Amino acid sequence: MVSRRQIQLYNLKYRQKLQHRRAISKSFDLHFKAKQNARQRKCRQRKKEAQKNVAIVPISSSTKIDSRKVEGAKRRRANARKSKNEAEKLLKQVQQLQKENRAIKRLLSQQRSAEVNDVNTTTATSPTHLFINNISPSSKKRATKRLLSEKENLPRGSVSKLRKLGVNLSNNYDPPSSTPSILQKEIEDFLCQDDISKQAPDKKKQLHGKQIRYLLHHLSTVHQRFVTETGNSCHYSTFTRYVPDFVIKPNANDWGTCLCVTCLNPQMKFEKLQNLKSRYSIIKSVLIDGLTDITELVTDEIKTKDFKSNLAILKDEQFTITYSEWIKKKNDESNILVSTKTTITSFIADFVNKFTNEIENLTHHIDRMRQQFRAAKNARQMAMEEDDVATIHLDWSENFKLKQARQDKASYYYEQQISILSGYVWMKNNNYSFGCASDDTNHMSEATWTALQPILNSLQNNSSKITKLNFISDSPVSQYRNKTSFYLMKQYATNNKITVKWIFLESGHGKNIADAIGATIKRSMDQAVAFHPDESYTNALDLIDDIKKNTTIKLFTYTKNEIDSFKKRIPSLTAVKGTASFHEVTVKPDGQFYAKNTSFGTERLLKVDF
Ligand SMILES: [Zn+2]
Repeated sequence: MVSRRQIQLYNLKYRQKLQHRRAISKSFDLHFKAKQNARQRKCRQRKKEAQKNVAIVPISSSTKIDSRKVEGAKRRRANARKSKNEAEKLLKQVQQLQKENRAIKRLLSQQRSAEVNDVNTTTATSPTHLFINNISPSSKKRATKRLLSEKENLPRGSVSKLRKLGVNLSNNYDPPSSTPSILQKEIEDFLCQDDISKQAPDKKKQLHGKQIRYLLHHLSTVHQRFVTETGNSCHYSTFTRYVPDFVIKPNANDWGTCLCVTCLNPQMKFEKLQNLKSRYSIIKSVLIDGLTDITELVTDEIKTKDFKSNLAILKDEQFTITYSEWIKKKNDESNILVSTKTTITSFIADFVNKFTNEIENLTHHIDRMRQQFRAAKNARQMAMEEDDVATIHLDWSENFKLKQARQDKASYYYEQQISILSGYVWMKNNNYSFGCASDDTNHMSEATWTALQPILNSLQNNSSKITKLNFISDSPVSQYRNKTSFYLMKQYATNNKITVKWIFLESGHGKNIADAIGATIKRSMDQAVAFHPDESYTNALDLIDDIKKNTTIKLFTYTKNEIDSFKKRIPSLTAVKGTASFHEVTVKPDGQFYAKNTSFGTERLLKVDF
């Protein structure tokens, strides 16, 4: 292709060549001029002829076009004028209507205010209205009811006359029911389940005579469970309305010393981040909108993974963070581990590392908690349905401190302590709560089994033979989850040719029905002391004898001597490997010993040397 630039260059060179040739040769110049003149003449002639043709031929068509143009313009002008007139007319109409509307409105409001004035004047003067409006609502109701029963005998027009006085006889009157609805009862029962809410550990925490219960989960989660478990699809707002006032969402301070550090620490860190999101936009981008409860997060595997990878972004930040957490500290005096709240300042990266670990732990913790609750529920269910199964839920209460009502101040240095092992027994057609009290404060395995003897004896005397015995308890290593406890389980299983299973609830979430019974027993003991100031209670037996009369809880006592003689029968034992992670152990009638880390996990046969 030849470009435009090349053509221009060629033309320029051609013109330069021509000029050069005309300059050097006169004959070429003359010849060129003649040729140029002839060409220009020809061109002028062609133009003239073309003008002539144009002037002659198209005259008629141009006039046609012009006249059409004029017509069109006229028509358009006429149309525009017409539309404009119509628009003006409509506008006038609208204005007129608006005016009328305003006038009508004014008239109406005048009429209404006149009516109101009328009513005011008539009520002030009508003695019937005055009378009706001044009798009590209940007498009005009574009168209405009597009128209703006489409705047939009233003269025509009475109903409408009475309606003007505010008495409606057209519908049958139904008094509002004072009994709570079935739904309300169902919701209350559900909320009081031990895996939904937990009784306040402090027996003094009561509201309207009911022990306060703390929710173990966020209310929305509880609502979801209510819908799935009861099949009652009530709306969330209805559900929240029926939550009784003694069931409350706890805060970190409500648990006293019974708080679950595994649950609380990540929640506190999560709330800390939420408080800081307005100061650091990076934190805001990491958090999930609408999430307030960390336990809601960890039950969703995908969400947890996302959240943890989001958190990792914060590690690159340089700012420091001051936060609180609960740590187990040794008490100076008693050498017992106590949960203490401490404040820590660290770099955000350290905070994130800690928080990530806690979320990881919480995930397993919640999973174990759910599995063990489910296992406990199944064990209870089985005991209630089958003749040969018994399930016992047990727990040591905090010791009862016995003080005499008229005690000398001087004797306060000595405080009598009473141990209480309380619990509940499920069997087919025979469920009961129990309490075993002693002046000895030993809470070890031998004491547990000594205290349980009267209950185990009554199982032996049951009409149908018990072949499966389930225990449910919290999981402190010192009390039930240890080699001594396992040895005693095996002894009982092989001696009685039965299967003994022990379900350990996840630590921090094991206190429930047994704890509640313990609290009731202690309240009765308090009352016994307070109402009988002249009685002197010196030991557990005195107290138990006194409160036995006023309770349906089966009460027993045991002594230090009984524990000691029981302990003598236990040989020296070697520890069972992995005990700390067991959450279910089973001993078969032949003495074979099985353990599981969670009740729905894999079972393995253990080698034990006892
Ligand atoms: Zn917990």
